Amino acid sequence: MSKDLWSKISQTIKTGAETLVQETKELTKMGRLKVELMTLENERNRKLQELGRKVYALYKVGAAFPPELAQDFQAVDETEKRIEETNREIEDLKAEDEAREAARLEEEKAKGETSGPKAYCSQCGAELRPTDVFCSQCGTKVAG
Ligand SMILES: [Zn+2]
Repeated sequence: MSKDLWSKISQTIKTGAETLVQETKELTKMGRLKVELMTLENERNRKLQELGRKVYALYKVGAAFPPELAQDFQAVDETEKRIEETNREIEDLKAEDEAREAARLEEEKAKGETSGPKAYCSQCGAELRPTDVFCSQCGTKVAG
């Protein structure tokens, strides 16, 4: 095996590994955000439940709602805000992934257009572009 080929293979494998690590990192970020979202939603539900129990207990004994209750409402609001932020982060990450995938497809398409099998005119032998209907050299209709 030539040294050149070996370094090429090593490079390819290295790049592949880096891509894999990158993807794993992305996956982990998405996974982490989803876990965070679930945790926050559980937290909000628990806070709402506690709040409901307190309010109900007050109602049962006919007591007025103390001003401290406002803190509980605010705590729910804050958790709700963090849920929204996490949802936004998830959406951003999804959009990033989609943009990257679209760019990759575009790149692949461009590659396919330039490296596809070449066609030649049956009359004059000029190279034809994939979009040609007539030969640009001699005007012969392209077969197929
Ligand atoms: Zn021709």
